[in-house]
Amino acid sequence: MLEDTYRHKGMRRDLIAELRQKGIDDERVLEAFWRTPRHFFIDKAFEELAYQDQALPIEAAQTISQPYTVAFQTQLLGVKPKEKVLEIGTGSGFQAAILAVLGARVYTIERHQILYETVTDLFEIIQLPQIRVYFKDGFIGLGEFAPFDKILVTAAAAEIPAPLLAQLAIGGCLVMPVGDEKGQTMQRVSRISELSYQTEEFAQFRFVPLLRGKNYKD
Ligand code: SAH
Repeated sequence: MLEDTYRHKGMRRDLIAELRQKGIDDERVLEAFWRTPRHFFIDKAFEELAYQDQALPIEAAQTISQPYTVAFQTQLLGVKPKEKVLEIGTGSGFQAAILAVLGARVYTIERHQILYETVTDLFEIIQLPQIRVYFKDGFIGLGEFAPFDKILVTAAAAEIPAPLLAQLAIGGCLVMPVGDEKGQTMQRVSRISELSYQTEEFAQFRFVPLLRGKNYKD
C-alpha cells in the first residue's frame, strides 16, 4: 500500500520551500508538487531521499530527474488545463504525473519495457489512468496523435529530433536539454507558424541521453 504520511508531507513542504528559494515561482507548479508524492515514484530503498533535491536511480540504469529540474522544465512549458502534452522519457512517471495534475492530457513515451510496465501499473494504483503511456522510440514521437500543444523531452541529445518539431502545434512550444554528455543547455522552441520556430536558451543541466530504438526487458 502506498501511504502519504504526515512525515512525507512535512518533507514535501520543505522541498517546495527549497524550490521556491531556488527561483521556482509558478504557484501552479508548486501546487502540483504538493499534490504529487514523489516517494510513490521511487524504490522504497530510497524513500528517505525522496524529498531531497536530487536525482535518484530507477530501474534500467535510468534516473528520476532532480525535483528542481522537473519544476524548471514544467515552468518553462507553461502548461494550461486541457492542453495535449507529449513527454519523451517517462522514466519513473513523476514528471508525467505533475503534468496530469496540472490538468494536461498527457501522452508519454518510454523506450525501456521494464519502465513502461512499472509505470503503467503505478498509474493504475495511484489513479492516474488518464495518462497514456507508450512503449516506443521517442525520437519519432507520436504522429498519430499530433499536433501537441506542448512537448517535453526529459533526456538529452545533440539536436532536437525533427519529427518532434513537426508534431508541435502552431502557438505551442517544446522544451528539451540540448548538448553532449558533458552538459546541456535547456532550450525552449516555440512554433510561430507552419515554417517558423523561435528558440530561447536557459541554464545548463545534466540529463541521461536520448537513445535510439527500444530496449526489451531480459
Ligand atoms: N521524466 C522522467 C525522467 C527519466 S530519465 C521522470 O520523471 O522520472 C529519461 C528517460 O528517458 C529514461 O527513462 C530513458 O529510458 C528515456 N529515454 C531515453 N531515450 C528515449 C527514447 N528515444 N524514447 C523514449 N524514452 C527514452
